[in-house]
Amino acid sequence: MDTEKYTGILRENGMKVTPQRLEVLRFLDENRIHPTADDIYRTLKKDNPSLSKTTVYNVLDILSKYGLVEVLTISGTESRYDYGSTRHQHFLCTSCGRIVDIHIKGLCMDCMPEKGHKVEEVHGYFKGTCRDCLKGIGG
Ligand SMILES: [Zn+2]
Ligand SMILES: [Zn+2]
Repeated sequence: MDTEKYTGILRENGMKVTPQRLEVLRFLDENRIHPTADDIYRTLKKDNPSLSKTTVYNVLDILSKYGLVEVLTISGTESRYDYGSTRHQHFLCTSCGRIVDIHIKGLCMDCMPEKGHKVEEVHGYFKGTCRDCLKGIGG
C-alpha cells in the first residue's frame, strides 16, 4: 500500500495519522464505487480482523468533517461514501442501484432565478436508468 501518499494527505489536512484512517482513505481512493460503510467494513475486515464497524464509522465521520470524503445520501436509505478529490455530480441508476460519477461542465450560474449570490458548490443528484440497463445488460 502506498502509505506515504495517504500519510501525506492526512498530514496536509491537519489530521492525525492512524492505520485505520490510511486504510479507509486508500480503499475509497482505489475503489470509486461509492460504497456504504458496511461495504468498506466487510472488505477491510478481511485483512484487519480486529477492525470494528464503529471504527469504520468514526473514521468516515472524521474524514468527511475534514472534507476528504463526501457523504452521499442519493439512495435515500443509506449513506454512500466518495473520496472527494474532485467535484463531480452523481447519477443513480434506479434499476441496478449503481452510482456513477458524471462531470458537468459549465453549470449555468446565470440561469439562477435569483442572481447576485456567489455559488461555490452545487449539490444534487441525478437519477434514471444507466447505459447498461437501457441495453438490457445491467444488473
Ligand atoms: Zn443500471
Ligand atoms: Zn463520485
